[in-house]
Order: sequence, then structure tokens, then C-alpha cells
Amino acid sequence: MKNKIAIIAAHPDDEILGCGATMAKHIQAGDEVSVLIMAEGITSRDQQRNRNARSEELSELAETAIAANKILGVTSVTLKNFPDNRMDSIDRLDIIKTIENFIEKQQPDIIYTHYNNDLNIDHRRINEAVVTACRPQPGSTVKSLLFFEVASSTEWQIPNTFSPNWFVDVSETLNLKLKALEAYQSEMRPYPHARSIQAVEHLARWRGASVGVEAAEGFVLGRTLINKI
Ligand SMILES: [Zn+2]
Repeated sequence: MKNKIAIIAAHPDDEILGCGATMAKHIQAGDEVSVLIMAEGITSRDQQRNRNARSEELSELAETAIAANKILGVTSVTLKNFPDNRMDSIDRLDIIKTIENFIEKQQPDIIYTHYNNDLNIDHRRINEAVVTACRPQPGSTVKSLLFFEVASSTEWQIPNTFSPNWFVDVSETLNLKLKALEAYQSEMRPYPHARSIQAVEHLARWRGASVGVEAAEGFVLGRTLINKI
């Protein structure tokens, strides 16, 4: 039986930075992958949030998100308009309800989302909301909850507590992740910024070397439920 996978990310590009190569691997295995991106991006660059002033860039970014995910083979991308880097100004319950509705609709068995100690406030809020939305109540479809790292947020936290205990060998799909990030040109920075194509490749090579393969994405396992041995 094929798996149903959901990726719940804060900003356009987090989904690829966090688990792009793993998403491509799921797709190649015939799994169904759907992506939920909660915040709009860009508007935090202004002193005050002004969606109108940034409307052109916002719709461009939304198109980019769809194009970048397509490179991985992902066609189900849902974009919400929560305020960029201001998710601490939103009622927690509204964030949780949005995620619960998505889970209800998609019925995923594996969820990938943010780690709880990232520097970025939206990442932390999303992590908390996903964990809440995935309370293991009877009948819940979600069997596994995995937390990814996002270059330029996870390792920028002090102290950085991310210590992966779950690795996906992405030797065959790392190139697709890097291509998808090239599509997200407006979000990427020149090397040696942590959010550069080269740095992301170095990280994947290091995660790979940590477990004896060419390239890997590292995760922290939140919870998994095994039905069959
Ligand atoms: Zn982010």
C-alpha cells in the first residue's frame, strides 16, 4: 500500500529546504505527497505588513512555489496567507484549526514539519500547532511525525539542539532538491550564506556521510506507531 505524505511548512521554500529530496523519493516510490505552506513570505521585509504593496511579488512567489514543487513531482500545493514572520500575532487556535482541516482533508499517514527549536518564530508556532493537531486520538490517520531542519534557521538557534535520529538516503534525488531551490531564486542567497545552493548541498553530503551514504536528509522522529511487525 502506498503512503500518504503531508508536508506542513511555514514559508515558501521551507518545504524544499527541509525535505525536498525526501519528497521526490516518496513521489518516485508512488506515494501521494501534499504540501501545505502557511505564511505568505516577503511581507516581513517591511516595517508594517502591507500585502497590497507586495501583491505582485506575493503572487510571483506563489507561482514559484508551485513550479518548484513540480520539479520534485509534487502537484498538490496549498498556500495560506498567514502573516510572514508575525505568526506570534495570530491566535494559536486559528493556526491549529487550519492544520486540522488540512489533515482531515488529506488523511496523511506520515507528516513532515518544522523542528521545535528553530530560530524563526513561525517555524516554532507551526511545530507546536502540528503536534497539537496530531494528538494521537483513536482513529487518527497520522502514524509518523517527523521534524526537519531548515538551513538558516535551525542551526542559527542558540543552542542548536537539532540532532537527527532518522535519515533518508537521498543520493538519487538530491539533484532534484537543488534544482527546485534554484527555482526559488528570490529566497536563496550567495554562498557562504547558509541558505545557498552550495551550503544546502554540503549539509546533505554531511548528513549522508554521518550514516555512510552519498547524501541524506536528517530528521528528528517525533512519534511513530507500528501496526505490523
Ligand atoms: Zn521559514
